[in-house]
Amino acid sequence: MSQRQRPRVPPELCDEIIGYLSADKKTLKACSLASRQWLGSARYHLFNSVAVRAPKDANPPRNLTAFLEFVLANTQLKRHIQCLRISTEEQNFGYGDGWASVCQHDLQEVLLQLPNLRKLVLSRIRFIGCRLGCEARPLQVNPISLKELVFEAGSNDDELLDIVDILSLFGDVEMFSAPRIRLAENWDIDNVLQTPLLPEHLRIRTLATGFDDTSDGVLWEVFRRTPSVHTIMALGAHCASGMHQERLGDFMKDIRATLVHLYLDLTNVFHDGETDQDLLEWDWLALSSYPCLQSIGLELRLTNGVLPSDFATEDDDDDDGDDDDDDGRSYELFRESMGLVNILSTAVESKSIRHVAIKVDFVRYHGREQDAGAILEGRVNWETMREVLDGFGSLETLTFGFIGGQGDVDACRPVLERVLEDFHARGVLRLEKMSPGWLPPGLQIEE
Ligand SMILES: [Zn+2]
Repeated sequence: MSQRQRPRVPPELCDEIIGYLSADKKTLKACSLASRQWLGSARYHLFNSVAVRAPKDANPPRNLTAFLEFVLANTQLKRHIQCLRISTEEQNFGYGDGWASVCQHDLQEVLLQLPNLRKLVLSRIRFIGCRLGCEARPLQVNPISLKELVFEAGSNDDELLDIVDILSLFGDVEMFSAPRIRLAENWDIDNVLQTPLLPEHLRIRTLATGFDDTSDGVLWEVFRRTPSVHTIMALGAHCASGMHQERLGDFMKDIRATLVHLYLDLTNVFHDGETDQDLLEWDWLALSSYPCLQSIGLELRLTNGVLPSDFATEDDDDDDGDDDDDDGRSYELFRESMGLVNILSTAVESKSIRHVAIKVDFVRYHGREQDAGAILEGRVNWETMREVLDGFGSLETLTFGFIGGQGDVDACRPVLERVLEDFHARGVLRLEKMSPGWLPPGLQIEE
């Protein structure tokens, strides 16, 4: 058979096959050298996702400026880049010390060169302001829109204004996720919030913040002053007590009209020994006043810890009678879950909420009751919980997720099917395993 007659694989099929290699960079490189026909497709996958690693303390990261030169010189290749990750090489700096710093000028220059960028990950990056020579560099008014922006950034030296500068570069962001945000303590919030430089184009659709947040909720204040307050449909928030909680409250009031999915992790508030009972009142949340809210997710952390009344001795002569003792003991027993029940009770008149999910995390101490089912049964006031849940007129699913795995699911199933018998009978009750980072479907992004 001559060369001319040799059967050829159609190019679409080649592209398809090379697509299966998208995670295998070594083979893709080999493919790109094997034939002209394969080159385009191999490049598409090779350059789809690009990582720029910065050395410790770099400001600006040399690799970032080298990358800028590369994209300026390769106008075809840069069109393939859909995901860019900028991170500091070393990982083990506790508070962001030593992380490479990026300024808004450098970042904007790079991002404006990437017409098809969908996802930007800033990982272990801080923002300590502009480098020398930036005063004369103009910024373009050209907000960058992204499908996903991951912001694992900041340090104990970062000024709020520098973070605000970075945020000002962005326009429509479908998913803004900030697993970690760190800030210097001494920001002058009033001064910063007066600035005309707030991110005036930022329109976030889904916002998820992480557990590691030293910003004291000040970023909620920043977001409140951006167009995002009119576009946020999904919010996933980890929250600490104090100002963090107050600022989250103000922020939530502002996004009330558009919010569809809400996930709150308030375990830091519930478990804060300093938190007084007033802060466990959640009437202000008034979830039934959110006209579009369809799903609520909440985190419930339960321990098998010792209760103060376990230490009561017969010498404690309490003449007030047994009723008070019982009240005191049930308060102690249900303290960890009370906040969650109170939050749900602010949603009961809602006509729109159809899905409630509760992520359950057990913290077990040695020498105490270990059975997840017994802890769940004993540490939640199920009578009150049932009353509250009965008030949800449109409930379609009530999901309990267990981050401890299948063992906890199996141990809790008979308990939940009993204490929530009606919901089980109606087919509303669900149990499943959940990963620690689980977020409700409305807060996830498809890859
Ligand atoms: Zn700069």
